[in-house]
Amino acid sequence: MAARFALVIDPAASDDPRTDFADTFTVIDPGAPALSVSELSTQRGDGIFESIGVIDGHAQEADAHLQRLAHSARLCDLPEPHLVQWSQAVARAAESAGDGEAVIKLILSRGIEHGPTPTAWVTAAPAADFSGPRRDGIRVVTLDRGLDSGAPARAPWLLLGAKTLSYAVNMAAIREAHRRGADDAVFVSSDGIVLEAPTASLILKVGERFVTPAPTGGILHGTTQLSLFEHLEARGASTAYETVPAAALRTVDAAWLVSSVRLAAPITSIDGLPVAVDAELTASFNEYLLSPRV
Ligand code: PLP
Repeated sequence: MAARFALVIDPAASDDPRTDFADTFTVIDPGAPALSVSELSTQRGDGIFESIGVIDGHAQEADAHLQRLAHSARLCDLPEPHLVQWSQAVARAAESAGDGEAVIKLILSRGIEHGPTPTAWVTAAPAADFSGPRRDGIRVVTLDRGLDSGAPARAPWLLLGAKTLSYAVNMAAIREAHRRGADDAVFVSSDGIVLEAPTASLILKVGERFVTPAPTGGILHGTTQLSLFEHLEARGASTAYETVPAAALRTVDAAWLVSSVRLAAPITSIDGLPVAVDAELTASFNEYLLSPRV
């Protein structure tokens, strides 16, 4: 079982020339109170985060997560994270996680109210057990996100492509999916375009092609989806980013929700309609996703 770990980062400016940031980290007791009550992350969800899968002490695709942290920071007008500093913090957390599946979280918050700097911290903890969903699959329902496909460009302040700490809506969508007798949700724009799940990307198999909704500003570009597409392409499979109308979900040959810690969970039904599960392909996806990836 992976161990718990936490460290607070004193964030360096992005052009800081140092190469060793060990003295900017303070290792703290992961179970002890550590944040000020004036934290804007807790008061307003004003900050960004990343969740990195860790397998036996190896942080999967750490660089892709750090690049996305920097992208989210730009969208949220947060100071640019120093990527060397953050990657050294990830390495410390991964080392401490030990054997088994774990999750490293990176958090960059606006900081304390009227404070001078952002607050930043990194944690490692045992991952939730996703062996059931990976093997047996999940039922999903589509839920209207209430925004049309023009919203991301028209209203960038909605921060739709950023991984912000404001996940209350995403969690509410999962609760609604449970009320409707499903395990998870797939968001659809109000003009009927398929988007993503509240905490995962969607991959569809259409004939022999693998398709995912295009990340055109309205959804998070998933590191797991990207990695799996690279893996599939290297094996000669055809992959595509497309605009997927909700009606197309009725005719897919297979579908998965994928994310860094759950990995690939096959979808067994969409809005009550059964979807075929390719157990062998799913097992090969998870075998790849569990292998050390850089
Ligand atoms: N989309 C959303 C909204 C997410 O929250 C996540 C992950 O938490 C993903 C997609 C999948 O991203 P990744 O594969 O990088 O974990």
